[in-house]
Amino acid sequence: MSFRATVLTLYPEMFPGALGLSLAGRALDAGSWSLEPLQIRDFAVDRHRTVDDTPAGGGAGMVMRADILAKAIDHASPAGDARPRLLMSPRGKPLTQERVRELAAGPGVVILCGRFEGVDQRVIDARGLEEVSVGDFILSGGEPAALVLLDAVVRLLPGVMGNEASGDEESFENGLLEHPHYTRPQSFEGLEIPAVLTSGNHRKIAKWRREQAERLTAERRPDLLAKRASTLPVEK
Ligand code: SAH
Repeated sequence: MSFRATVLTLYPEMFPGALGLSLAGRALDAGSWSLEPLQIRDFAVDRHRTVDDTPAGGGAGMVMRADILAKAIDHASPAGDARPRLLMSPRGKPLTQERVRELAAGPGVVILCGRFEGVDQRVIDARGLEEVSVGDFILSGGEPAALVLLDAVVRLLPGVMGNEASGDEESFENGLLEHPHYTRPQSFEGLEIPAVLTSGNHRKIAKWRREQAERLTAERRPDLLAKRASTLPVEK
């Protein structure tokens, strides 16, 4: 069984979108994964296909209704479906490469995309939705966040990356940002490729890359270094 993604959204036309092209698109065509966007409005109960209502307690905006969303989720993910149910949400746990890897190793995902002010808390609780954030900023809807999550997951599925043996050296995979890259021409606007990279000395190259990765991480993401230090075995 290949990886199955079901996306509950008010804008099914946004899918596969960018995921229909390039690596993810080829993998979709090849059947390495499947994508089923479902229109939440199809689960509405009135003539106007209403999915939202005014917030209890007052305030601006609209809230997506728990009953409509529960019907959509139960349809997409009936009892026995082992796929995690995710809700894209700025209040969620920030997405990490570690979680992406776990998801890619599983049977798939059911993703609920929020709109308006968000969704009624009761459906989050009653259906055990895992809230996932793609960063500390506010999008107008969960769809771009779902595309980001799926892009990150799909490239890890078996066979999708072809012979790009990336993986281990990539940013975050070893708790560090990746070293800088260079390619021809040798000289660009008077800037040369660092000599070590054209030296042919693979031990020195590996050492240089490692140092660069550590320097970049210390400069830009000291939080990653701190996390890394706390997970390395304590020296006796
Ligand atoms: N009122 C909410 C924001 C709603 S934005 C708040 O202040 O927390 C509308 C929808 O966009 C959300 O329900 C969510 O599905 C999606 N969204 C917005 N920002 C996001 C982010 N950083 N990560 C994941 N989803 C996001």
